[in-house]
Amino acid sequence: MKVVHLASEVAPFSKTGGLADVTGSLPPALAEAGLDVTVISPWYRDSEQAAAGTRTIARLRVSIPGHETRFELRELCDRGVNWWFIVQPGLFDRGGIYGPPGADFPDNDTRYGLFCRAALAALADRDCEPDVVHCHDWQTGPACLLLRDRAVRGGPTVPGTVFTIHNLGYQGNFPATSYDALGLQREYFTPEWVEYFGKVSFLKAGLVAADRLTTVSPTYAREIQTEELGFGMDPVLRHRSRVLSGILNGIDTGYWNPATDRFLPARFSAADPAGKQECKLALFRETGLTEPNRPLFGCVTRLADQKGVDLIVSSIPALVAQGARFCVLGTGAPELHEALSGLQNRFPGSVAAILRFDEPLAHRVYAGSDFFLMPSRYEPCGLGQMIALRYGALPVATRTGGLADTVFDLKEDPARGNGLLCERDSLAGFRAALDRALALFGTPAYGRARRRGMQTDFSWDARAREYARLYDELVAARD
Ligand code: ADP
Repeated sequence: MKVVHLASEVAPFSKTGGLADVTGSLPPALAEAGLDVTVISPWYRDSEQAAAGTRTIARLRVSIPGHETRFELRELCDRGVNWWFIVQPGLFDRGGIYGPPGADFPDNDTRYGLFCRAALAALADRDCEPDVVHCHDWQTGPACLLLRDRAVRGGPTVPGTVFTIHNLGYQGNFPATSYDALGLQREYFTPEWVEYFGKVSFLKAGLVAADRLTTVSPTYAREIQTEELGFGMDPVLRHRSRVLSGILNGIDTGYWNPATDRFLPARFSAADPAGKQECKLALFRETGLTEPNRPLFGCVTRLADQKGVDLIVSSIPALVAQGARFCVLGTGAPELHEALSGLQNRFPGSVAAILRFDEPLAHRVYAGSDFFLMPSRYEPCGLGQMIALRYGALPVATRTGGLADTVFDLKEDPARGNGLLCERDSLAGFRAALDRALALFGTPAYGRARRRGMQTDFSWDARAREYARLYDELVAARD
């Protein structure tokens, strides 16, 4: 089985969030399961740091109306996977992946329209004929439509397509004039295809054109078919519900491993947890927090409305008054930056707000925290809670999407419990869960839940097999 993944970000070469973790760790797990895997992504300004040792394997050109571009194709073979990079400095060598902090580049339509074309041109040039092309999120939706168009026109053998929704809230909806960036005939600019209320939607291109749709947790697969969490795409998703399924994400348990993590001041595991206390002490020192015997609530997140960070901001004063400590690592919306630094100034020693993207520090926050906050308004899967559990921090999270599939409330389910759940979008509910967390801290039940969390298998092994089964079914259905 030959599979090619297309993604706009792939860790460790580029990353803004969980999408990159998935596209960087699912492919090696598929290779481990015996599949032949190639991943294609853009080469950004910072990619070099992680992708030293690439070699140029082709120089190609692609065009869309009004725009012709040359690009270089670079390859790196690592962990059983061919990592291909589309190198086009004019499009991708910029400060930021999708835009400067808190904004989008105005030509993201052209950037990712051309990326999709370039990826398919690279496959043709290298005589790579995959069984399946697996596209991730709106940036790669057009590739599904381009392949479908090719199939309709009776081109050479066209692969099956899978489109995975990592976050329905990001849709790549552009003005109608952006249709040219797809480089397709006019016939697809209709409501049955990519038109979305007069705009052109890159996400919808994937939703309507792919052979199979997946999303990153079973609960989110149900939620996105409802008006409440369907972001306007629920009618399309209900229409395609027969080919839509939810497969829970895994994490790279080699990389996210507190027993070997090189970013930590001390190592620990469920069997030998002593180092966790040392990590907590070091994190207090590093971030200026005081009294490390207090419970520490950590958070590592994009500062976006989706993540419910405003609920954390509103809860901090009352919790600090009860002795809690907070360490928030995040970047995003300017108003949340302001609110969090305001709290740090108001409660020195009790609140640390580190407002940047910092991978090594993220590891230390997971390792040093007693609880991990994820009061998301919606959460397709969420990796933070799984990493936190592995690093011995109990999630305080909302009952939605992948959080509902991976966090089990200690009160509702004492035998399986590994955290505290509350309902979505309820400050009172979140505050009650935080109060419960404070009461739980240091009790035998807390210790048992922490051990249970650390022992849970969050690896890709079983999940990669689910994807492999899906590819098999897809190919069999097309024969
Ligand atoms: P999302 O994909 O919606 O951003 P996830 O929980 O699925 O949320 O994944 C978030 C990933 O990004 C995790 O690996 C988390 O550690 C990382 N991350 C988020 N913000 C930061 C930050 N400021 N610094 C370092 N890592 C971050």
